[in-house]
Amino acid sequence: MLENMEIVDVDKLIKEFEAITKDAKNVQRETLKKILEENGGAEYLQNLGLAGRTDPESFKSCVPLVTHQDLEPYIQRIAEGPSAPILTGKPITNISLSSGTTQGKPKFVPFNDELMETTLQIFRTSYAFRNREFPIKNGKALQFIYSSKQSKTKGGLSAGTATTNMFRNSQYKTEMKAMQSQCCSPDEVIFAPDFHQSLYCHLLCGLIFREEVQFVSSTFAHSIVHAFRTFEQVWEELCADIREGVLTRRITFPSVRSAMAKWLNPNPELADLIHRKCSGLSNWYRLIPELFPNVKYIYGIMTGSMEPYLKKLRHYAGDVPLLSADYGSSEGWIGANVNPKVPPESTTYAVLPNIGYFEFIPLRENAEEQVQDKLDASFISMEPKPVGLTEVKVGEEYEVIVTSVAGLYRYRLGDVVKVMGFHNSTPELKFICRRNLLLTVNIDKNTEKDLQQAVEEAAKLIAKEKLEVIDFSSHVDLWTDPGHYVIFWEISGEVSDQVLKECCNCLDRSFVDAGYVSSRKVNAIGPLELRILRRGTFQKILDHYLGLGGAVSQFKTPRCVGPTNHKVLQILCDNVAKSYSSTAF
Ligand code: AMP
Repeated sequence: MLENMEIVDVDKLIKEFEAITKDAKNVQRETLKKILEENGGAEYLQNLGLAGRTDPESFKSCVPLVTHQDLEPYIQRIAEGPSAPILTGKPITNISLSSGTTQGKPKFVPFNDELMETTLQIFRTSYAFRNREFPIKNGKALQFIYSSKQSKTKGGLSAGTATTNMFRNSQYKTEMKAMQSQCCSPDEVIFAPDFHQSLYCHLLCGLIFREEVQFVSSTFAHSIVHAFRTFEQVWEELCADIREGVLTRRITFPSVRSAMAKWLNPNPELADLIHRKCSGLSNWYRLIPELFPNVKYIYGIMTGSMEPYLKKLRHYAGDVPLLSADYGSSEGWIGANVNPKVPPESTTYAVLPNIGYFEFIPLRENAEEQVQDKLDASFISMEPKPVGLTEVKVGEEYEVIVTSVAGLYRYRLGDVVKVMGFHNSTPELKFICRRNLLLTVNIDKNTEKDLQQAVEEAAKLIAKEKLEVIDFSSHVDLWTDPGHYVIFWEISGEVSDQVLKECCNCLDRSFVDAGYVSSRKVNAIGPLELRILRRGTFQKILDHYLGLGGAVSQFKTPRCVGPTNHKVLQILCDNVAKSYSSTAF
C-alpha cells in the first residue's frame, strides 16, 4: 500500500473537503444511513425498534440521548466478552481509555478500524490545508508522543489510550510517511514503558536530527511545554551523551538502549554547538528555533484547557508559528483546523460531515424553549432538543452529540462549542469548555475559561518578578459555610507573602460573573482561597494518571477538581506550602 501511496495529494484532498462541506446536509444523511446499515444488527439498535429505518427523523424518535454512564454496561460486556454484536454490527476489537480528566479515572470507549479510518481522514484534511500555507519538505517531525500501558480486557480485547491504539496502527505510520510527518524517534522510544525515559530519548533524537526537523508536535500542547521544561533540566546531560556517543545510564530499558545506540555516535561538534546555543539564550527564549533551525511550525491541540500553556510555548518558539491541531476525542473526531494561519486563541474547527452524525443541544435557548413548551401546556419535556449539523446558528453555544462509526449513538460528549461561522455549509466550531467543569457554589457559574482568565490576570503580578504560574487547578470547597473557591498554583520560584496576598485578592475580583460577585458581596460565597503548591505537584498528578493507564499524550491538567476525584484532591491538598484568603470583598 505504501508503495502506491507516495506523497499525499493536497489539492485533491482540499477539493474533496470542499465538495462534502458544500453538501453537508445530504452527506450527514448518507453518513447516518451508512452507520445504521452497518450496525443495524447490533443488539443496542435492535432493541430500539428502528426496524431497518435509517432516516434522521426515525433515528431521533427511536434512539435516546445517552451519556457514557448509560452505555457503560454495554461497553463492559464488550470488554468482558465473548465477542458479540452489542453496539456495532462487526464486533469491537479494541478498547480505548479516554483521559478521564473530568471523572478522575479513564473511561472505556470502543475503538475499531472504521474509527481509525475517520481519524486518518481528519489528519489528512488538516494536513492538506496546513501544507498549503506552510509547506514542509521531506524531513522529520520531533513528536512528543507516548504510549499508555497496554492491557487485555477479560474478553481478550487490547485496551490502551486512543492515541496508543493509533500510534500502533500500521496504517497510521504509512499515512504519516505520506504526509512527510515521520517521527524522528524509533518505535522503541515511543512505546518505552517509562515516560521519563521516552521523553529524554525524544529530545536526544530531535537533537541528532536537528537539521532535518521540520516541525515539533504532540497531541496536546501540554506535552511540548513539558518536554522543553525538562530540556532546561537535562540539556547538559544530553550534550554529554552526544559528545561521547554513549547514552546516559538513566535509560535502563534494553530495547530503548539498543535502538538509540543505532543513532548515537560521538559528535563533539554537535555537542559544542548545542552547548553554545543554550548558553547564549536568555531565559530559554527562542529555544526551539535555535535547536531546530529548519522548523516551520509547532503543532498540537492548543485550545481549551491547553490555552494556558500558549504563553510559555510562544516563549520557547519565538517567531515560529503555533498551529492548533484538530478537535476530537477518544469517542471520535469532529472537526479539522482548516485555517492554520489563525492563532490558537481564535482557532475554529470545521466539522467533517462524513466522519460521524452530529447533533447539537442549544445551551442558551434550550431553557427558554422548555419554559415556552410548558406555557403551551401541550408538550412538557425536560429532554433537551438537539438540532442538526446544518441547523446551528452563528454566535450560539451548543453541547456536542456524536453518533460514531464505533457504536456510540446520540452520545453526549460533554463539550461546549460555539458556532463562529460556516465553511460552505458545515459549521466552524470554537471549543469553549467541558460542560461539567464548572466552578459553582450557588447561583454563580464560572467555566474553565473564566478560571483561566482570572489566573492570567493575577499571574501578571508575579510576572513583574520574572516568575510564572507553571500550572493551576481549582476546587469548590463546600465544607466551609458558606462554600468558597480554592485555586491551586504551582509557581516557578519564591514570591513574597505580600504579592501572593495581592494575587489572591486579584483572583477573587477577576471572577466577574454576576452570580459570583453578588454572592461574594453578601458573603453567600466565602473568600476565595489561593493555595501555593510545592514544586513538582502537577508532575505527581500526571504520574497518578499514568498509573491509572492514561498516557502523557492525552493528559490534560484537571482544571476543576470535583469532590469525587479523591486522589487528585488529596495530592493537591497534601502538597500545599502556603495558603491565602481573599480580603477583596
Ligand atoms: P480524551 O478524553 O482524552 O479522548 O480527550 C477528549 C477531550 O479533549 C474532548 O472531549 C475535549 O474536551 C478535549 N479536546 C479535544 N480536542 C480539543 C481541541 N482541539 N480543543 C480543545 N479541547 C479539545
